[in-house]
Amino acid sequence: MTPNKAPIEPLSDASIEKAAKILAAGGLVAFPTETVYGLGGDATNGEAVARIFAAKGRPSINPLIVHVADLAAARRTAAFNPLADKLAATLWPGPLSLVLPARSDAGISSLTSAGLSTVAVRVPASAAARQLLTACGLPIAAPSANRSGGISPTRAAHVQTSLPGPDDGGPALILDGGPCAVGLESTVVDLSTETPTLLRPGGVASEDIEAVIGRLAIAGNDDLAPKSPGMLSRHYAPATPLRLEARRAEPGEVFLGFGSVEATPGLNLSPKADLIEAAANLFQYLHQLDQRSATAIAVAAIPEHGLGRAINDRLRRGATR
Ligand code: AMP
Ligand code: MG
Repeated sequence: MTPNKAPIEPLSDASIEKAAKILAAGGLVAFPTETVYGLGGDATNGEAVARIFAAKGRPSINPLIVHVADLAAARRTAAFNPLADKLAATLWPGPLSLVLPARSDAGISSLTSAGLSTVAVRVPASAAARQLLTACGLPIAAPSANRSGGISPTRAAHVQTSLPGPDDGGPALILDGGPCAVGLESTVVDLSTETPTLLRPGGVASEDIEAVIGRLAIAGNDDLAPKSPGMLSRHYAPATPLRLEARRAEPGEVFLGFGSVEATPGLNLSPKADLIEAAANLFQYLHQLDQRSATAIAVAAIPEHGLGRAINDRLRRGATR
């Protein structure tokens, strides 16, 4: 094994077992699906999910799709409604992700859904992916297994070239299932609001979805997607104003600290200044501080490197809405 490249292993019962163990221990595994290769981590483990963002070098934190082995597991993760039941019955397993209210008892990390109360869930058609999901028995968060800005990988070798090796935060293992059958990302449909909305076109044609549940609105299209006040924003931001790069909380404020600062009153994202830990805590702590009826959440400066850039991107968006 070359130290700076993730090892590729062909699919076998042994390699799947090994991958499942890595995932259960909070590690990362790249695995084939019918859409593209995914970079998977335990969706219930915030630090595992933070490692996904770090490995991809994503400049921002967006919600990730949660992959599960079957419909029963999907129902344990998200609250289904009649439209979701219909789509799941006709188009799953397959390249279709459904955005639904998250079930709080599923334990999905708030980083997986970027602080939203919804979760995108999918049962992949790929037998290899389902075997892995069954073997680990966990919901697996998995964006495409490429460096941010790179091309989506449809072969194990693409993953190996694009992502860092295990010593540099990349996957511990790449499962090789050959070329992906679809080669396109999954279609994402939001069923958590009044109007079913296409958030991203992908492997399942929108016509095939409309044939099952009727007309889909298109995200961002004002005529079709009515902006009702209660409509869920695709990005979570606290109701309390954010004051960034603060040194301390002023009277009436709460403090979101980082590193060796006194975070009173408030919470510290990572007293040991670990960006992985900070990302894992980010949304949960923002939600908690948002409950305190403070005049503002004062946020300590977060270093602008690695995962810190993605954290800062989220904080800046939350501060300027
Ligand atoms: P990727 O994981 O890179 O394939 O991208 C996932 C896609 O699903 C992105 O377009 C996300 O914004 C979208 N997505 C995932 N979860 C949610 C959610 N809870 N609400 C809205 N969009 C979501
Ligand atoms: Mg991608």
